[in-house]
Amino acid sequence: MLKKPGNKLANPESWAEETRLVRGGLDRSQHGETSEALYLNSGFVYPDGETAEARFAGEADGYVYARYGNPTVTMFEERLRLLEGAEACYGVASGMAAVYGALACQLEAGDHIVSSRALFGSCYQIITNILPRFGISFTLVDGDDPNQWRDAVTDKTKLFFLETPSNPTLEVLDLAAVSAIGKEKGVRLVVDNIFATPILQKPLKYGADVVVYSGTKHIDGQGRTLGGAIMSTTEFKEKQLKPFLRHTGPSLSPFNAWTLLKGMETLKLRVTAQCEAALKIAGILEGEAGVARVIYPFLESHPQHALCKQQMTAGGTMVTFELAGGKKAAFNLLRNLQIIDISNNLGDAKSLVTHPASTTHRNIGQEARDAMGITEGMVRLSVGLEDAGDLIADLQQALNA
Ligand SMILES: *Cc1c(COP(=O)(O)O)cnc(C)c1O
Repeated sequence: MLKKPGNKLANPESWAEETRLVRGGLDRSQHGETSEALYLNSGFVYPDGETAEARFAGEADGYVYARYGNPTVTMFEERLRLLEGAEACYGVASGMAAVYGALACQLEAGDHIVSSRALFGSCYQIITNILPRFGISFTLVDGDDPNQWRDAVTDKTKLFFLETPSNPTLEVLDLAAVSAIGKEKGVRLVVDNIFATPILQKPLKYGADVVVYSGTKHIDGQGRTLGGAIMSTTEFKEKQLKPFLRHTGPSLSPFNAWTLLKGMETLKLRVTAQCEAALKIAGILEGEAGVARVIYPFLESHPQHALCKQQMTAGGTMVTFELAGGKKAAFNLLRNLQIIDISNNLGDAKSLVTHPASTTHRNIGQEARDAMGITEGMVRLSVGLEDAGDLIADLQQALNA
């Protein structure tokens, strides 16, 4: 057997984030490949019946079936776990598999969830439509008002759920305040940290119990693949997540895990550059005629600006703005953009723009959109890696067209 160079004794917990992103989780085979190996297999074989029995009994390490685990998926989980600073990470097929798995694995009929109102469309569907079919009730609150979280708790409340910054209104919620109320009331906090990414905000530090990601967004960041992950304690992973996810099957494909591993190598570089460009663009948009309002966490005009500065290391890659001319002006802008593409995806190297009211937040209905503050003139911009000057010029020519 050749030596396995990736497995030399090392202490990845002592590495800086940049090193963790490139080398974390790397588990080389006997061939010494540079890049992470892609194990495109679903099954595993055993040298003897005793080994198979021991693995099924959980008494021996080793893989048994790709729905339970795969070496490439393990490398992805370990890299993201190191970045987050979590005890455990579970890779899943998509961001929504992560949201649903993180909630459903710990709920039963009769339980109650309190959630912030400002939610991504599919998160909203899970809380207000899908979980209630299984006897799980909910209360939606204005997430920026701690009293509403406290007042909504009943003796049935099991979970708090929130997104910060939220999609698409970039509402920023106080993680420490909400988690403190949860701790006081014996309620676990689940945070959708997809907009912030683990680069800009680490919810576990503020007391969150579970954090979910869509790998599809910044982690891949190149529009190639779906994926997701759930970060938690080891105990939660072993006792809640594994029994639920192994048998319900939202497994992350090894190919997608491999793509996400490649994405993570450049995650910090990309997100840092995208945040710099987003801040510039947000500042310029604030001064443009026809733009009624710009929402960006690191602009002083953001209602929770002080909290954003304290909780996040940069303002994020998303800029949301409202056009005075409503839907007509928004669609005109979309039609006239020459570089920025119209797409509901986000976190991509390519800048993407969407009109939430008619796309990502269409199905939740007018009343819910009004309550979330999603207007007809609202446009959500995901800032990519193009030159900021080119993007600003594109936006200006489309606004003036
Ligand atoms: C995209 C997104 C999700 C879902 O992720 P998928 O990988 O598309 O399933 C969940 N929450 C937020 C805030 C998102 O933007």
